Amino acid sequence: MDMIIDSHVHVGTFPSIESAGQFLSTVPDVVAFRTRHRALYERFVHEEAADNGETLIADMNKFGIDRAIVQGRPGITNDFVARIAARYPDRLIPIAVPTPWPTPVDDPRDEEKMMSPKAVAGELERCISDLGMIGAGEIFVRRLTRTLQPEDIADDLAPMMDVLARRGMSVQIPTAWTQLPGGLFYGDPIWVDEVANRYPSVPIILTKMGRGIDHCFENCLAVAMRNENVHLEISGSSSAHARRALQTIGPTRLLFGTDWSPVWRFVRTPEPVVSKAIRIVEEATNDLDVRERLFSATAQILYGVSSFRGDVA
Ligand SMILES: [Zn+2]
Repeated sequence: MDMIIDSHVHVGTFPSIESAGQFLSTVPDVVAFRTRHRALYERFVHEEAADNGETLIADMNKFGIDRAIVQGRPGITNDFVARIAARYPDRLIPIAVPTPWPTPVDDPRDEEKMMSPKAVAGELERCISDLGMIGAGEIFVRRLTRTLQPEDIADDLAPMMDVLARRGMSVQIPTAWTQLPGGLFYGDPIWVDEVANRYPSVPIILTKMGRGIDHCFENCLAVAMRNENVHLEISGSSSAHARRALQTIGPTRLLFGTDWSPVWRFVRTPEPVVSKAIRIVEEATNDLDVRERLFSATAQILYGVSSFRGDVA
């Protein structure tokens, strides 16, 4: 088996999340968690964050994942992510979330909770210089803009994109839905075309590539076709969409990820998120070279990751 790099993992957890596994065995369970078990879902904001590096490493070993690019989740700071990653330097590589994801006490509709484009760029710069992070993870666009106009969104993202261009680093932009409240508009990646066009040297990774929703996937494809710096990541997608992406943009801009998180790791029915993501790649192509590209080669290029096994340059 080739080396596998998981480009999309969320670390950090809370006691209430760790206790909620019984309610989270299917994808619809995870989506409904916030509304069905509101008190339990909201409890984490009053709790102390916990290090779940050991749980992640155990799952990586179980499913054959060699290395993971890790980022935070709601309530987890970049500093906390860096500390977890530092404990497993040959397995975990940290990236920054410069626009924190919302928690139940942190609503970005509240003007005071928004960040200025300059503040976002400053936080990213701090994560790179002080915490040794090697790129930007899934940004929460609503944190730094209120506009729905693609050119204006690109203006608001400009300071952050300037940092990435200068550093030669990439950014992940989430697509389709999340289990969090609000912000669904930005899940349709049609607006990303404007950003990608202005920053052709910055790799942009559209995570989840539409999450199996045809409408969102079509727009991921349209944006990726037009911009050679746009990459698609397959977690939560389908083998049919992965096959089509291979036919349309080829194998060099498609990459493996699972979206593993303290919540998603509980999903067991019909299958865990990690084995599902591996199956998407294996069902999309029988070509071993193409599989190797998706599983590790593209992530190695994007994140400058060399193999700790020493078998890939
Ligand atoms: Zn994610």
